[in-house]
Amino acid sequence: MKIIRAEKMGFCFGVKKAVEACYRIAEKKSKNKYILGMVVHNKDVVDEMKRIGFVIIEEEEILNGKDPLVKGDTIIIRAHGTTAEITNILKQKQIEIIDATCIFVDKIKEILIERESLGDEIIFIGDKEHPEVKGIVSFGKKINIFKNLNELKEKPLNSSKKYSVLTQTTLNKEKFMDIKEYLQKHYSNAKIFDRICGATSERQEATRKLSRVCDIVIVIGDLKSSNSKKLLEVALTENPNSYLVQNDIELDLSIFSESMKIGITAGASTPEDIIKKIENKIRGNFNVEY
Ligand code: SF4
Repeated sequence: MKIIRAEKMGFCFGVKKAVEACYRIAEKKSKNKYILGMVVHNKDVVDEMKRIGFVIIEEEEILNGKDPLVKGDTIIIRAHGTTAEITNILKQKQIEIIDATCIFVDKIKEILIERESLGDEIIFIGDKEHPEVKGIVSFGKKINIFKNLNELKEKPLNSSKKYSVLTQTTLNKEKFMDIKEYLQKHYSNAKIFDRICGATSERQEATRKLSRVCDIVIVIGDLKSSNSKKLLEVALTENPNSYLVQNDIELDLSIFSESMKIGITAGASTPEDIIKKIENKIRGNFNVEY
């Protein structure tokens, strides 16, 4: 038996930094530590955060004044960031904010503020319900959000205005290229910023390659995590013998046989220790080549 890991897998840069920030704060502060929302879409990680003393609170609780926060408490902002309104409330309440917003998300926010100050109208491509998008656009004045090219085509732009076009970090690169081509063809007054983060597409591409050369593929991740489910979809298109497994406890060893080449991959929200536990469980039960 052989285990092959995907070339790119597991925590992305931004999530890794946010989780490290949580551990650092857990060591320093003995009480009243909060995380805004899920630091990562992974139940095991969230449970671990609760175990080391964090309380998870949601944005709605803060907006509705139903949160337990008091002056001097500490709150960690997850990698997706949060809205201007939440940030202001936290500041007014004199909460210590540990901002673990990913630098790639912050960069888009910075460009948006700068371009608006120069008089541009902002076109934002992304999912308006996604926390990252809600956070970024909340720092602007009047943002036009479009989910995709079709939506964008429905609203002709004004040729006498200046536009800046920004996107969600995880927008699909091919979709972005289609949008860029359309805008360049029809609107010379639109300045397009490519700030897509490659973490998601890199993991998907690595999974695709891996799935082609393995007998079975194990995608490790939370069953509810959209990036893990997407990885499973990619794996299944190449290899029908692919499974999404949350952790070592959930791993059913009967799906393996001694001669198999096992491919292992994981989404950007899956920590290395969960991946290792799965590998160790397989190694403990089969003869695995090193
Ligand atoms: S996916 Fe990219 S933008 Fe999002 S947190 Fe990870 S590194 Fe940052």
